[in-house]
Amino acid sequence: MLNIVIFGAPGSGKGTQSDNLIKTYGLFHISTGDVLRDNIKRGTELGGIAKSYIDQGQLIPDDLMIDILANVLDTHKEEAAKGVIFDGFPRTIAQAEALEQMLQERGTSVSTVIGLEVPEQELIERIILRGQQTGRTDDNMETVKNRLDVYRNQTSPLQAFYQEKGLYQAIKGTGKVEEIFADIRRAVDAVK
Ligand code: AMP
Repeated sequence: MLNIVIFGAPGSGKGTQSDNLIKTYGLFHISTGDVLRDNIKRGTELGGIAKSYIDQGQLIPDDLMIDILANVLDTHKEEAAKGVIFDGFPRTIAQAEALEQMLQERGTSVSTVIGLEVPEQELIERIILRGQQTGRTDDNMETVKNRLDVYRNQTSPLQAFYQEKGLYQAIKGTGKVEEIFADIRRAVDAVK
């Protein structure tokens, strides 16, 4: 199995490059942000809980998020047979440890972590533009600041976590989408 964690700050291009990865490698895509937004749209109980966190730019609590991910993996066993792109998960060390255990229980592991690196000013510009184009409610100036703080404090330590395991591959996340993807492809092919 080829299990890819696509990692980076909000606005670093994880969603865009996940689409390219799906097309090239035929992997199952799990975007935890998409799962939560879909629950909000459908008015589920989970959606009700998630909305207040998302609107404030805060993370959904680890226990809940880990249960959601395990549930998605269990309900999509066949589609996930070739491997999974984890987009937006893990976002904390506790989530990364839980992911390791979940994959181990399923006889597999993280193959590589692709870290998209983009300067903060460009992240802000991209997120504000995305908010204007898509109407995504957490893509506004006020929430962006919180999301970048959360990234810095809670998520960026994962870079060292995966570096120590020899799994982290840094990719320059600025420039043309196709050129960034060419770099990602080389990184993925190196571990295939
Ligand atoms: P994203 O679409 O990945 O940018 O996620 C949007 C929002 O959903 C985040 O700002 C969080 O509030 C929430 N979220 C998504 N994934 C996670 C996660 N792995 N852990 C906690 N909260 C998450």
